[in-house]
Amino acid sequence: MTAPKEILQTVRSTASRWLVGLWGRLPWGRKRYRVSKVNDLPERLRPGMLYVVVEGKVEIQATMACPRGRCSSPLNLNLMPDDHPMWTLQRHNHGLPSLAPSVWRKHDCGCHFWLRRGEVVWCD
Ligand SMILES: [Zn+2]
Repeated sequence: MTAPKEILQTVRSTASRWLVGLWGRLPWGRKRYRVSKVNDLPERLRPGMLYVVVEGKVEIQATMACPRGRCSSPLNLNLMPDDHPMWTLQRHNHGLPSLAPSVWRKHDCGCHFWLRRGEVVWCD
């Protein structure tokens, strides 16, 4: 027997997941990044998608299109502890990703931002 409380919690989390999914499809809700696990990166990176490249069960790299305006060049972030620099990918409720430390592209467009709970937080 499942306690009614647990059922309620399941319903709640399903409903909020559905709401977040819906929110992500609305124009003003599109700024939250979602994680997509891939073995190979697609040729065109979709905006709002953080691609996590996996090799077997190991997450080796996170890649996203640069969020700055028209730049959109790929940002490749190493997740392997053996290499430097290295980023830590954290997942929150609904799979929203955070990256630490911040992403700072010192060449090209020079963008500097944090990815926190799926949102780009600009540093400048
Ligand atoms: Zn850029």
